[in-house]
Amino acid sequence: MAHKLIDGHLDLAHNALEGRDPRMSLEELRRIPLLSGVPGHPPQTPSLTFAELQAAGVGVCFGTLFARKGGQWPLFPDGYTDAESARGDALLSLDLYRRWEDEGLIRLLRDRTDMTTHLDACEAGGELPIGVALLMEGADPVRDADDLPFWVDQGVRMIGLAWRGTRYAGGTGEPGGLTDAGHELMQAMSDLDVTLDASHLDDAAFWEALPYGTRLMATHANARRFVARNRLLSDEMIQAIGKRGGVVGVVLANYFIQEGWQLGERGRLPLVALAEHIQYIAGLIGWERVALGSDFDGGFGTEQLPAEIDRYPDLHRLAELLPAEHRAGFLWGNWERWLRENY
Ligand SMILES: [Zn+2]
Repeated sequence: MAHKLIDGHLDLAHNALEGRDPRMSLEELRRIPLLSGVPGHPPQTPSLTFAELQAAGVGVCFGTLFARKGGQWPLFPDGYTDAESARGDALLSLDLYRRWEDEGLIRLLRDRTDMTTHLDACEAGGELPIGVALLMEGADPVRDADDLPFWVDQGVRMIGLAWRGTRYAGGTGEPGGLTDAGHELMQAMSDLDVTLDASHLDDAAFWEALPYGTRLMATHANARRFVARNRLLSDEMIQAIGKRGGVVGVVLANYFIQEGWQLGERGRLPLVALAEHIQYIAGLIGWERVALGSDFDGGFGTEQLPAEIDRYPDLHRLAELLPAEHRAGFLWGNWERWLRENY
């Protein structure tokens, strides 16, 4: 299949470490007993495997190095509690991506040359491993600003400082600005040309990070206009990302699509509810600045996805709800242009 999709956010390694091995077929994966994404809740149905990504025409995805924070959030009692355990978790994920690369399943895109070569190959057509651009989600695995060059050497070109709050910045459900360490890390990111992913940043941290002048985008964040939580982007944040030449990837979790949606209380939302976010973001910063950051299987399953989505290739149904002239940009061209110019 032609390569026609770039996904700005997939927790591939983290999902695998939680028991969802993407090398299996989806049918196999759905038959094995899975760990629950949320302890105390029933397991949710996976929708994503390497074969599904290939079937959907994914040429590139942003693959996260994600460490799950423990302690303060009782949902995840087994998560990291200090910088070294966070770093260890991210290294485990990195090792997994490298093994998949050795197996020929993915290709890690470590720098601009890798990226350009891979995008050219995608556009030329033919069979290719899935290109993975490493994205660190939550910066706690970075020991301190002096540790940043290590991660850049491993191919990490994009970092979100927050998930929940981190040692660096206020984040989802844990508001706050940049800490002293956060200011130092932003300076180091600016010096080493590392992009800031604004997805989980609290407003205070977002506005304090802006003057450092790094490239700025949001891999997986919807519009706060529809869900009033700090996990989503305010109009002003979306506009700031647009002004900086960034792209906003929309995320498919129902929680982030409609105010008050709760698992088990309401039916799954129609995809058109997410198309409204896309239209709205496009209205603020243009159709060339809104793309996909699905976050599929990132600790959840189809139960939390819009109703029309059963498996990954169904994502194309979302594009079908958009104006015909903007579909290819949404699925491929907008991230592709950003990656060619900025990676
Ligand atoms: Zn996330």
